[in-house]
Amino acid sequence: QTATPYYREIISVLASTFRLQSFRANQLEAINATMSGKDVFVLMPTGGGKSLCYQLPAVCKSGSTQGVTVVISPLISLMNDQVTSLRNKNVEVELWNSENSSDDVYAINRRLNERQDLPSMLYLTPEKLRESTALKSTLNGLSEAGLLSRFVIDEAHCISTWGRDFRDAYAKLDWLRATYPDVPIMALTATANESVINDIIQRLNIPDCIFLKQSFNRPSLHYEVREKKKKLILIKEIAEFIGTRHANETGIVYCFSRKECEEVAQALRDRHGLKAQHYHAKMTSAQKKLVQEQWQSGGAHVIVCTIAFAMGIDNADVRFVVHYTMPKSMDAYYQETGRAGRDGRPADCVLFYHFSDAMRLMNQIKHDRKLDMPLLEEDEKRLMDNVRQVMDYCMNISQCRRIQILRHFDEVFDQKDCSKRCDVCKNDAQVTTQDITSEAIDVVHLVRLMLGKATTHHCKAVFLGSKKHRVKEKGHDELPGHGKGRGMGQVVVDQLFGKLVVMEVLHEKEILNGTGFFNYYLQVTRHSVESIEFTDNYCLSFPARTPS
Ligand code: ADP
Ligand code: ZN
Repeated sequence: QTATPYYREIISVLASTFRLQSFRANQLEAINATMSGKDVFVLMPTGGGKSLCYQLPAVCKSGSTQGVTVVISPLISLMNDQVTSLRNKNVEVELWNSENSSDDVYAINRRLNERQDLPSMLYLTPEKLRESTALKSTLNGLSEAGLLSRFVIDEAHCISTWGRDFRDAYAKLDWLRATYPDVPIMALTATANESVINDIIQRLNIPDCIFLKQSFNRPSLHYEVREKKKKLILIKEIAEFIGTRHANETGIVYCFSRKECEEVAQALRDRHGLKAQHYHAKMTSAQKKLVQEQWQSGGAHVIVCTIAFAMGIDNADVRFVVHYTMPKSMDAYYQETGRAGRDGRPADCVLFYHFSDAMRLMNQIKHDRKLDMPLLEEDEKRLMDNVRQVMDYCMNISQCRRIQILRHFDEVFDQKDCSKRCDVCKNDAQVTTQDITSEAIDVVHLVRLMLGKATTHHCKAVFLGSKKHRVKEKGHDELPGHGKGRGMGQVVVDQLFGKLVVMEVLHEKEILNGTGFFNYYLQVTRHSVESIEFTDNYCLSFPARTPS
């Protein structure tokens, strides 16, 4: 890698422009490959240093093509950050997205067409690339003059309909290769399993790309899942966790909704004296900027946010990530926890899990499908599967967290390399596994008897043998399944129901009630009624101390 004709310039630009001493894994390989005109696929975890792979060659003059590196990126906040940081390094960059005025666009176009003083880089949203004919003819001009260095597709997983945030405008990127067959393409992502990768390569038509992949293991992170308690107890637990393990250090708390962000941030401030601020999409850009500044200057230690936030922010010294609500997918979990420990020093990731949050996520998906955001059936299935995978992860305390997380990226991990930096490895030997086949059958019979007219909460209460009024008034204390789960206790029953949802035996169905609101009733899924197979898959693992 050091013998290429570009090496000398690469090293010099690394030090002069980027003020870095050495490369991280695969960076030099990616840079060399793209500079010699090859297509490159870079699969690197969040924080691994993807941007340098295309920013550095963009500044170099010795590559096989010289001119403008066009970066297609889906997130305006991410682009803004990168552009600001590049301009601080005196790199000439233009940015073209929906925030531009027509004057800006005119100026950018003129600069690109005059070719006197070309920028090294042009950042675009995929939508602009698709919509703007002026942009297309400018690119054609550059290409004919041999001044298109390469196309960079950042967050390339958005191309794939299998990926977690598919973008329509990304799907059309196949025309890049068709229109500019000689312009090399570099695709980068942190999020890809095998089917996503193959999909990206096929859609971009880069079958012969140099493929660079490294381990997704994040040795600095400690993973832990905890049972999610009621709101005030939970917030107290989080405050204690921060106070004892991370006093005066920075961290992120992820919440489900904007309202929840505001509530949690306020409680952490008012009740527990923490320097916490909320951050979410509905704030004005001035408000966001203020919080970002506080966060970077140490005026705010804890940022309580929805997922949108962290995309634009890159503090290397985040020491903890708390999931107040479970993430929507394992990909999302990896990315969200990946915000911590970027400096390589230890950081904690604590996920608070409760069955009802999983149901809330799933119900939201179904709800979205009906209302504002029409989803295809297959998309809905995929989003639901994503939630089920996270549920499974949360409930699986018999396998090292790293094995579980990395398996999602098709990576085989050796447990001893975890070095007890996860809750499962720490507790090992204390786990017992119980076959729950007969209990599962009991639950299914019970739920069927409810005829789809009882909530999960109610079904659990009946299963546990509750004698409460709302059980008795319906005569449910007389049902054959009443009390069958009495010996199991609430926590194990939650797990049992959760497991049956993961296995797609049970689901909640949304029913519009008389007052215009939705009720969610537990049902046995259609496919499982015919084909339930009670095999040894129906095992639950739980700490040995839990009564069974
Ligand atoms: P990604 O896009 O893969 O999430 P970034 O490109 O944003 O990651 O890089 C993450 C952080 O790592 C940035 O702060 C960046 O400056 C730093 N970084 C990247 N490459 C190197 C390197 N070779 N040496 C030191 N720091 C680096
Ligand atoms: Zn482990």
